[in-house]
Amino acid sequence: MELDTIAAISTPMGEGAIAIVRLSGDKAIDIADKIYKGSKSLKQVDSHTIHYGHLTNPTTGETVEEVMVSVMKGPKTFTREDVVEINCHGGLVSVNRVLQLVLSNGAKLAEPGEFTKRAFLNGRIDLSQAEAVMDLIRAKTDRAMNVALGQMEGRLSRLIRKLRQEILETLAHVEVNIDYPEYDDVEEMTHKMFIEKAASVKKELEHLLQTSQQGKILREGLSTVIIGRPNVGKSSLLNSLVHENKAIVTDIPGTTRDVIEEYVNVRGVPLRLLDTAGIRETEDIVERIGVERSRAVLREADLILLVLNYSDELTDEDLNLFKAVEGMDVIVIVNKTDLPRKIDLERVREAAKQHKVVTTSLLEDQGVDDLEEAISSLFFAGSLEAGDMTYVSNSRHIALLGQAKQAIEDAIDAIEMGTPIDLVQIDFTRAWELLGEIIGDSVHESLIDQLFSQFCLGK
Ligand code: GDP
Ligand code: ZN
Repeated sequence: MELDTIAAISTPMGEGAIAIVRLSGDKAIDIADKIYKGSKSLKQVDSHTIHYGHLTNPTTGETVEEVMVSVMKGPKTFTREDVVEINCHGGLVSVNRVLQLVLSNGAKLAEPGEFTKRAFLNGRIDLSQAEAVMDLIRAKTDRAMNVALGQMEGRLSRLIRKLRQEILETLAHVEVNIDYPEYDDVEEMTHKMFIEKAASVKKELEHLLQTSQQGKILREGLSTVIIGRPNVGKSSLLNSLVHENKAIVTDIPGTTRDVIEEYVNVRGVPLRLLDTAGIRETEDIVERIGVERSRAVLREADLILLVLNYSDELTDEDLNLFKAVEGMDVIVIVNKTDLPRKIDLERVREAAKQHKVVTTSLLEDQGVDDLEEAISSLFFAGSLEAGDMTYVSNSRHIALLGQAKQAIEDAIDAIEMGTPIDLVQIDFTRAWELLGEIIGDSVHESLIDQLFSQFCLGK
């Protein structure tokens, strides 16, 4: 099957001084050459070189743009096809003119994610790597970026392949035992082997799943809600977190959001604070909408920042807040230490139980460092090292890993109940297939289409 030559604007809209229109496919160089005027025909240039020239409309002869054109011949390209990148001026009008010119000369407008899809279809990357490209586009902190990069380099894929290989070898081994029973106790032998293998695969799957919570947070941000009585300093806290930390740019072309969120990067931990539409309306949430409903909202949060007033006594209202967030990750902030103390800190520590208590004066900019330290140590407790960890952050991967683990557990149960070996083999095979879906070895066309349509146009 011959694929069309596709084209799209591959830089964000309206940003930067340069924009790139990218073409990929058999006719990429032909099409570009039809509209390009430079010192040489693009058909005669070496691969992976860049050329200055002008684009002209071949029907009118009119000059459209001043450009730099990169020519990259497959298979050493992202898509493994011939790729041409036309660098032009960044304005919306000029980049659109270039795109229109390319389309009217034989290219087809790329669907969202189609470049990455081609890379996948042409065997350049596997599915988990393709998904990592998407994560990269959305990565909100350096750490999240590293996770996505690691995945793109195939760290997760390698681990999955290794597990599948182990499962396959066990299945093969058992098959041989059954076909060539040299001992009388073949049945017992294979059971023992299954149990051992199943236990070790299960352990590795569990380990991968454990990393998924961190991975998800790295990708999506730690959803953070600030609570406290009126006037304790919640807005001040929000402001100082936003101002002291690099706000993370989240404008992703091609996505729409109902709620505007504010992301800040606190020592590598992305916090997702709801913006005006969110936090500023819900900050006094407990008094505003009553305890029952607010509890439901609070349960969705990953982290609660509970603010108390140092210069006021601990009230029943404060204690109710502690109750409302029982069982959650909480950091207690006692604010306004620049004023005379009225709060009983001993009682605060009692109410806080295992949670960290930090004292601050947001007015005098004191204690914010301690708070940031508390946030980062809460998140990175258990000394997770981003560098050499394989975080699983993609919800599709997490679901598949969970199902594979279930299949392995079913196998263990079956063996323990003395089930015939061929039934146990079925569970093992199922685990093998599920893991295959993560790297795209056994997925159907429709799933692939759906996955790639989530990409931004031009990636
Ligand atoms: P919220 O109602 O909980 O959001 O509290 P705000 O952040 O709006 O703060 C209420 C008042 O307390 C404002 O006048 C702040 O300037 C003041 N405030 C906030 N933090 C401090 C602090 O650490 N020390 C003192 N003295 N005043 C503070
Ligand atoms: Zn406020």
